[in-house]
Amino acid sequence: MALFKLENVEDLYEIGEVLGSGHFGQVREVRERATGTLWAGKFLKLRKNASSRLGIERKSVEKEVEILQTLQHGNIMAIRDVFESRAEVVLIVELIRGGELFDFVAEKENLTEREAIEFLEQILHGVQYMHSKRIAHFDLKPENIMLSEKAVPHPNIKVIDFGLAHHFEQGEEYKSISGTPQYIAPEVINYEPLSEATDMWYVFLLSGMSPFQGDTDGETLKNIVDMTYEFDDYHFKQTSDMAKDFIQKLLRKEQNERMTADECLLHPWIKPLTRKQAATRNRSSINMKNFKRFNAKRKWKMSYNMVSACNRFCRLQLLCKPSIKVDEELRQCESDQEDTETKPETLLRRRLSSSS
Ligand code: ATP
Repeated sequence: MALFKLENVEDLYEIGEVLGSGHFGQVREVRERATGTLWAGKFLKLRKNASSRLGIERKSVEKEVEILQTLQHGNIMAIRDVFESRAEVVLIVELIRGGELFDFVAEKENLTEREAIEFLEQILHGVQYMHSKRIAHFDLKPENIMLSEKAVPHPNIKVIDFGLAHHFEQGEEYKSISGTPQYIAPEVINYEPLSEATDMWYVFLLSGMSPFQGDTDGETLKNIVDMTYEFDDYHFKQTSDMAKDFIQKLLRKEQNERMTADECLLHPWIKPLTRKQAATRNRSSINMKNFKRFNAKRKWKMSYNMVSACNRFCRLQLLCKPSIKVDEELRQCESDQEDTETKPETLLRRRLSSSS
């Protein structure tokens, strides 16, 4: 059992504004009292007992912490400390100020493939590093790719949220089912063994070109399982052939056919071998209209999920506990949502039936 510090986190850190929230709690800015240094504090509400529906299990937090402590890389969020109280665990992590990569990109009027590759290459370096340690992230969605700072010439990527990550033992078979329909890998939907190659499916989706989006979640999942997709001329006419080749080498249903992170970093789209290849990247651009539409839809869907989770929680509250405090309500509402999502059958049934 991992040892977390038992001191009161507030004795050492001053708790500041909320930076974001997840299924099990909030992330807040915190200031170290001794040095004045700013960090982020990830406050995770612990599950009270095995039968409780709310909060996160301590062993899941231990797993996330152990993985973060194993990973020291410039493109991966660093962890500094962990505190534990009866009801909560607090992870003190590197403060990431630049927001989500996709929001940063969506604000731009245009983006050449070369500029997009600068980001993708950093993500690939982070992924290559974790895979070299036999760790897979399994949740490389746009919300988990952030920028250290954004008002700098070459923003630095940080991969966050290792809550679903897994450290593979030698010869281990690992299955899990969790994810969001637009991003989910075929082996996750089919409940097949996962591997580092599962992350490479997510890397392909981070190129911002998901060709699977259906009108409903059910349609999206079916498109993924059937591998029904189209690179239509209208949306991809500005895309270089090298980019399409790169994407098609990740867009494989069979995990062993996908490029690895090492192979991606050597693909001529990322690392051009000739002057002509480099010039093509500079000329070709990302379809920003398409990208902005994708990002807006993603944001809308995130708020829709949050509102419906809160509605479900409020209904529950009315039925059972009318006196819980507001801060507590939000955390419980998110925990309630996660509890539903981690159950395989429920997840697919619920998500298949919900519409985009
Ligand atoms: P999920 O429910 O998606 O699994 P989670 O509970 O594991 O989420 P995170 O994804 O780690 O929580 O963080 C939630 C949000 O808090 C992020 O989307 C981001 O906006 C913000 N955030 C997380 N870590 C940091 C950080 N180190 N610095 C600044 N903001 C952060």
